[in-house]
Amino acid sequence: MQTSLLINGQLIAGEGEKLAVLNPSLGSTLVEIPEASLAQVDAAVCAADAAFEAWSQTTPKDRSQLLLQLADAIDAHAPELARLESDNCGKPYIAALNDELPGVADVFRFFAGASRCLQGSAAGEYLAGHTSMIRRDPVGVVASIAPWNYPLMMAAWKLGPALAAGNTVVIKPSEQTPLSTLKLAQLMAEIFPAGVINVVFGRGPTVGKPLTSHPKVRMVSLTGSVATGSRIIAGTADSVKRMHMELGGKAPVIVFDDADIDAAVEGIRTFGFYNAGQDCTAACRIYVQKGIYPEFVRKLAEAVSSIRYGLQDDPETELGPLITLQHLERVEGFVQRAREQSHIEVVTGGKRVAGPGFFFEPTVLAGARQGDEVVRNEIFGPVVSVTEFEDEAQALAWANDSDYGLASSVWTHDVGRAHRMAARLQYGCTWVNTHFMLVSEMPHGGAKLSGYGKDMSMYGLEDYTTIRHVMFKH
Ligand code: NAD
Repeated sequence: MQTSLLINGQLIAGEGEKLAVLNPSLGSTLVEIPEASLAQVDAAVCAADAAFEAWSQTTPKDRSQLLLQLADAIDAHAPELARLESDNCGKPYIAALNDELPGVADVFRFFAGASRCLQGSAAGEYLAGHTSMIRRDPVGVVASIAPWNYPLMMAAWKLGPALAAGNTVVIKPSEQTPLSTLKLAQLMAEIFPAGVINVVFGRGPTVGKPLTSHPKVRMVSLTGSVATGSRIIAGTADSVKRMHMELGGKAPVIVFDDADIDAAVEGIRTFGFYNAGQDCTAACRIYVQKGIYPEFVRKLAEAVSSIRYGLQDDPETELGPLITLQHLERVEGFVQRAREQSHIEVVTGGKRVAGPGFFFEPTVLAGARQGDEVVRNEIFGPVVSVTEFEDEAQALAWANDSDYGLASSVWTHDVGRAHRMAARLQYGCTWVNTHFMLVSEMPHGGAKLSGYGKDMSMYGLEDYTTIRHVMFKH
């Protein structure tokens, strides 16, 4: 198993404290890996800084070719990468191999093409006797910090645009799920010049903090919790670095009386529980119109109770474990407190699964009210709440009454209503009659406490560039 850091083109063992990396399906240790030391974090940033001069001057075509090589290497190693992802996150192996790995390679292919297609204003004489032109140049050294829910996909979302735009990168995967990114480091070391990509391993306070606050880092890209995002923003304010923040979510799912009930139920069964609900866009905060509410809750409970949880190599498994025991206890706490509310009914699930792994039953909490914590806070587990609403205005008001603003969906056959809702929902994305669908060409990113900056798409690439004006006097 590849457990070394990548610093300046060399795979070298960490020199910090050893951390256990777990298999959450079994609760057992897969491997122990030493964190990067402070000196190694510094060496990684200095390597990225030294590599910037040459890398930032490469042509988009040259960068594109290397990104395409990386995508091919990911395809060639897909079974091995999926195995690491599956063992380290408890994800069903088939889902990691068939859903995630092709998406990871596609992100690099998209940015390989996108790097050659940057657009801007036309050069011209906006002041008589002077010609102005716009440049989009790389920002510098980017510190990228990834979460544990989709380790390799989040690494791709960060590395793809940063490298395509000509930046150099130091990336830190989550201390819980480093294995696939460390394997990727080995593949990248064979393709990219030394120092262009560096991978360090470790916890937030010991490795993430010195990395993000390093004076040579010009941009920080985080996918993680709101708490971590605000800590990084506060901790780096003095050096005014560019920030790219993809934080939490609590997606409203609004189902109107005229919707296809079975399609909405099936959609929530899939998109509320994919990755055990550990997804920032999970279809978790469900609002159902009065006329269909009883039927909807009955059908949803039936559908969710049929979700099969189990070990990642069982081809029947749909739902894996939560990532850690601590996270399992957190999810369980939400459900226990919800049970104590007399108006909330646990219509299916609601319990931790006995055994060594960190499993929680797929759960539906019906009768939830707008002020309840299960409606307001990110649970990040296989738990959805259902709330009854009267009319369009109430659904819209409740959906927007949230600290988060990442993703939302509307389920209706009324095209006018779908447009009205999509225009007024304060979310980075609104899906109509579906949920969760992402493509490399379209932006992903939030509003409010869900953060700012876009992943994927041309907007994502632009976020990793700095706009410059160059003016010539004739
Ligand atoms: P987290 O905030 O606990 O950790 C994220 C990363 O930040 C980890 O690598 C961690 O080591 C690092 N970190 C922690 N403290 C740090 C510090 N002080 N300085 C630098 N780095 C630090 O989040 P998590 O539990 O790994 O992931 C779950 C969260 O991520 C959820 O809130 C989820 O909604 C969010 N998320 C958002 C998106 C999105 O696109 N908006 C996607 C996936 C996950």
